[in-house]
Amino acid sequence: MKRIKQLIKPSVLAMQSYQVPAANGLTKLDAMENPYPWPDDLKREWLKVISSVEINRYPEAGANTLKASMCKALKLPDGMDIMLGNGSDELIQILALALSGSDRVFMAPEPSFVMYRQISQTVDARFVGVPLMPDNFSLNREAMLSAIAAHEPSLIFLARPNNPTGNLFDENLIIEIVQKAQGLVVIDEAYYAFAKETLMEYLPRFENLLIMRTFSKSGLAGLRLGYLMGSRDWLVELDKIRLPYNINVLTQKTVEFILGHSKLLEDQAAAICAHREQLFAALAAIPGLSVWPSAANFLLFRTNNQPALEVFEGLKRAGVLIKNLDGSHPLLENCLRVTVGLNTENHRFLEALESLI
Ligand SMILES: *Cc1c(COP(=O)(O)O)cnc(C)c1O
Repeated sequence: MKRIKQLIKPSVLAMQSYQVPAANGLTKLDAMENPYPWPDDLKREWLKVISSVEINRYPEAGANTLKASMCKALKLPDGMDIMLGNGSDELIQILALALSGSDRVFMAPEPSFVMYRQISQTVDARFVGVPLMPDNFSLNREAMLSAIAAHEPSLIFLARPNNPTGNLFDENLIIEIVQKAQGLVVIDEAYYAFAKETLMEYLPRFENLLIMRTFSKSGLAGLRLGYLMGSRDWLVELDKIRLPYNINVLTQKTVEFILGHSKLLEDQAAAICAHREQLFAALAAIPGLSVWPSAANFLLFRTNNQPALEVFEGLKRAGVLIKNLDGSHPLLENCLRVTVGLNTENHRFLEALESLI
């Protein structure tokens, strides 16, 4: 034990590992997964593709076949390219490894996606979180610009829409930040499938801008595929850090396959957005709750008259798992986050919630 404490870096000893609660038997509305299965005939077609895969061989190292199909589907601006990650979490890690260094600072507004801070700690970068506006979680322009001037971050993450708040940060303000920052700005569009808003058109205009997305929230969380879009000059450098076979062969073949059936995932996202609006209206109608509008596949709400933890635990006893955010950031006092699920799951959640409030 003594040797472990001596050998592991102090910054790692001080960290907490990322906790994923067990969900066995529970209605799972905690992790922004797409709840819809694939139709049986599509599944059969997919199994045929998968059955011909040679799993005794390494996958295509650069995943160039898949990348070419993705570039075509994405309609990237001229001169822009993509890089693939084992989930966008891995891309955040690659960015962090490439841009860290003693006295380097990484920055993001907070509350936001927790991996920005978590991964910064593993590479010994100093992480500065800039509080969002308390009422609607928009960016605090003065606070962001003065923090950028004061700390000169080498890397800034902006999730749009933001997780866990669900809102879209103002486009003009993001562009102002990109223009004023000396460092790299990464716009995380993990929820693009639901928000249908992108800043991709700005990629050729700003040298310090990259955009990141993932297949996780739109329906392929189990496969782990994220991608980073931007100029080749950036991607060539970042690619030096990427491990050669980071995208496994089943993921490569499956995503290639589903790109030929993209309407399925688009229709599922549209259904999730419609159900999100129903769920929003239902939550807004419950006295004692505040709920914020969302452009993503989840809703953030606050219990005004009782501890969120009590409601969270009550829901769990009723068989429904959501996310308790109370205690994770001062602006999220008594806040909970629910993922939009199947209609039946949303109703199960609402029924249990109403009996607890
Ligand atoms: C879920 C999420 C991710 C992580 O996506 P993976 O591709 O599953 O690693 C990244 N950014 C944001 C904002 C997210 O909410």
